[in-house]
Amino acid sequence: MPDNYEMVIGLEVHVQLNTKSKAFCSDENKFGVGPNTLVSAVSLAHPGTLPRLNESQILKAIRIGLALGGRINGTSTFDRKNYSYPDLPKGYQITQDCTPIVVGGGMNIGNRNLRLHHIHMEEDAGKLIHDIDDEYSLVDLNRAGVPLLEIVTEPDFRTAKEVEVFLDRLRQLVRWLDVSDGNMEEGSMRCDVNLSLRPIGQEAYGNRCEIKNLNSMRFARQAIAYERERQARILNAGGHIQQQTLNFDPTTGVTSPLREKEEVHDYRYFPDPDLPPMVISDDKIEEIKTQLPELPLTLKDRWKKQYDIVEKDADVLIQFKKRAFQCEEWLKNSIDPKLLSQFLVNKIIPHASETSKEIEELLLTSKKLNKFLELLISDKVAPSKAYQILFPEWIKNPNEDVLALAQKLSVIQDNDTSSISFAINKLIEDHPKELEAYRGGKKQLLGFFMGQLMRMEGVKANPKLAKDLMIKVLNG
Ligand code: ADP
Ligand code: MG
Repeated sequence: MPDNYEMVIGLEVHVQLNTKSKAFCSDENKFGVGPNTLVSAVSLAHPGTLPRLNESQILKAIRIGLALGGRINGTSTFDRKNYSYPDLPKGYQITQDCTPIVVGGGMNIGNRNLRLHHIHMEEDAGKLIHDIDDEYSLVDLNRAGVPLLEIVTEPDFRTAKEVEVFLDRLRQLVRWLDVSDGNMEEGSMRCDVNLSLRPIGQEAYGNRCEIKNLNSMRFARQAIAYERERQARILNAGGHIQQQTLNFDPTTGVTSPLREKEEVHDYRYFPDPDLPPMVISDDKIEEIKTQLPELPLTLKDRWKKQYDIVEKDADVLIQFKKRAFQCEEWLKNSIDPKLLSQFLVNKIIPHASETSKEIEELLLTSKKLNKFLELLISDKVAPSKAYQILFPEWIKNPNEDVLALAQKLSVIQDNDTSSISFAINKLIEDHPKELEAYRGGKKQLLGFFMGQLMRMEGVKANPKLAKDLMIKVLNG
């Protein structure tokens, strides 16, 4: 329903880091193993245990911060966020309240710059399981202490589409930098959506609601759509949006307030006395920066400029880092990078996914790809034959010489004008009536002649070339 409101959205995205061990102890950081199998005394918060910082977590935080254009705080601190819940044995969560590791940064989407407020490190809580036992809720503490990044954006989003593209790119980036597996379904990326409405043209923000823990793109989209309508309905009726925390139920598609007791918090943040401020030198930050791989969007822009690859093909090629860098290797050595990009998108990648392989596993090399494309570029094989007949055979065993294979499959076309002309002249001699009709103005007979020519015994003429020659001969 169209109305006069503009949506204002800010995100808080939790990203679970794919470190080997947890944030503050050596328990393994792993998903999908038996409950409470990854829990030492630290994860269980036994008295007297001390946290120890995981270096890999910090490196990953800095990598993603730099890739998103943020500034790294030379000194950042850890704080305790105090609350009581059965999935939190310590009674507090270690987080960064005062000085987060990354400040600022952002992402350009189209002509919009979606700014980040900051990124901070924290630890995850355990998991409560309510649906196994009738009487009790069960606690699995494997996740307790798993390192998280919280990426907090400015309220810069105006549409659900922007949210989706942002999350999509963020997921690609965390995978690209080997920071997280980015699997939303497994909870490695979860998103809180803060949403408010304001009349179009008004500068001041309205009151917002926060929808907690959306763990798929689809749920985020549905929750935003529902919440937008809900708030618009209240405002249209002259009501007031009460600032609150909401839960989204994927089965009903409805948002509803979280229970009051979960909502009212006094976290009483204070610096964690067990973790002194963390100091990172400029040199170290610079070193991490120089070690970053070329980022997906930079790679894409370069390909577009350097090889004239179209946006939508480039998007497919940069989808995964390994694939992207394999493509880069082939593009760099290609006799026709643009043609190769189309070949990759339309044939190689679909073939790989049909056979459940990665393109790196297809036994291809630049040399073999060049030999295939050579047949197209030199007009030895017509594109339709190359793609429909030659490709399926060749890709079964790319080690086979593609020219020999093309000959075997008799898809090589004749580019020799004298032999094509010879065939055309023979054809015309056999069809004097049609020739007369053509010359009398029945130009559509060109199709008839071409059809006959291509069906002639032993003729494998290049159709484009043949057509030009045919027109010349028919016109006398
Ligand atoms: P708090 O300190 O209460 O958590 P923040 O200022 O940190 O609030 O904002 C939390 C999130 O809410 C951020 O992602 C921010 O962009 C977003 N946000 C803040 N104000 C609004 C608003 N009026 N409408 C929508 N989102 C908002
Ligand atoms: Mg907040």
